[in-house]
Amino acid sequence: AKEKGRNQYLLCSSEMKEEVNRQNQLTNHLYRALEKGELIVNYQPQVCLSTGRVTGVESLLRWQHPELGLISPAVIIPLAEKTSLINPIGEWVLETACRQNKAWQVMGMEPILMAVNISASQLKNPNLISQIEGILKRTGLSPAYLEVEITESTAILELGEIIGKLNSLKELGVSIAIDDFGTEYSSLSRLKMLPLDRLKMDKQFVDGIGFNHKDQSIANAIIQLGKSLGLAVVAEGVEKEKQVAFLRTSQCDLIQGYYYYKPLDALEIEKILRRQG
Ligand code: C2E
Ligand code: CA
Ligand code: CA
Ligand code: CA
Repeated sequence: AKEKGRNQYLLCSSEMKEEVNRQNQLTNHLYRALEKGELIVNYQPQVCLSTGRVTGVESLLRWQHPELGLISPAVIIPLAEKTSLINPIGEWVLETACRQNKAWQVMGMEPILMAVNISASQLKNPNLISQIEGILKRTGLSPAYLEVEITESTAILELGEIIGKLNSLKELGVSIAIDDFGTEYSSLSRLKMLPLDRLKMDKQFVDGIGFNHKDQSIANAIIQLGKSLGLAVVAEGVEKEKQVAFLRTSQCDLIQGYYYYKPLDALEIEKILRRQG
């Protein structure tokens, strides 16, 4: 038994080494990915339930790795967070998304909102506000068409600091969404304190619609809570007709999910916007 335990430990340790090596290799590659143009941004439409129109998109990062194929942001972001890469990468996503949104407007499309994810460490960066200001200037995008999405994980930052940053963003004219609502350190007092425009209800509650009474009650309660606070409510990860019907009855404002659209490249979005006129 002792022998076995020891072998298991050795196995574990070598696997850990392999994992660390893999991570280091990926990190080294990530340094070059940006300059080599391997990072790409996809856009997932948000559909207004009352009009059926696409009124916004969320930008979602991907890495087109030459050997490993398409790498998920669930891998990229934590890796970037561990290094100082989150700032240049985050800035690049913001600029790419803003430039793209402006380009659609220049083509004559009806203006839509561009939502960009901002991680806790980006929010912590003292340059974030001037970074965003600079991007809006360079791209010529009106701040009315940019929204930043923050998650509840920003709870690791001091509340006063977050409120200050978010207020500065609001002064620029940028709007703010709370993402993955209900999953992490949801504190209703934070919801009250933060200057928010939108609430994005996490997929886990949407998944339970029609299956799990508790999730369904929570989904309905989150929508009513958001609305009564004057926030627009977006349901995420909507895949089924049944969910759409429930969300419509609950008067959820916007739907983002595979039921309507997966994340798409800029050209696909352009086609959708052209079609809806
Ligand atoms: P998120 O912000 O919650 O984004 C929504 C995720 O749900 C996206 O995954 C999207 O593709 C997926 N999704 C949307 N609708 C459906 C659906 O109907 N069914 C299913 N199964 N999934 C759906 P993705 O693109 O893999 O992104 C994962 C996470 O990575 C994002 O979660 C976000 O937290 C983070 N992320 C992505 N891009 C960025 C970025 O540029 N910056 C930062 N800081 N984080 C990012
Ligand atoms: Ca998001
Ligand atoms: Ca989310
Ligand atoms: Ca999520």
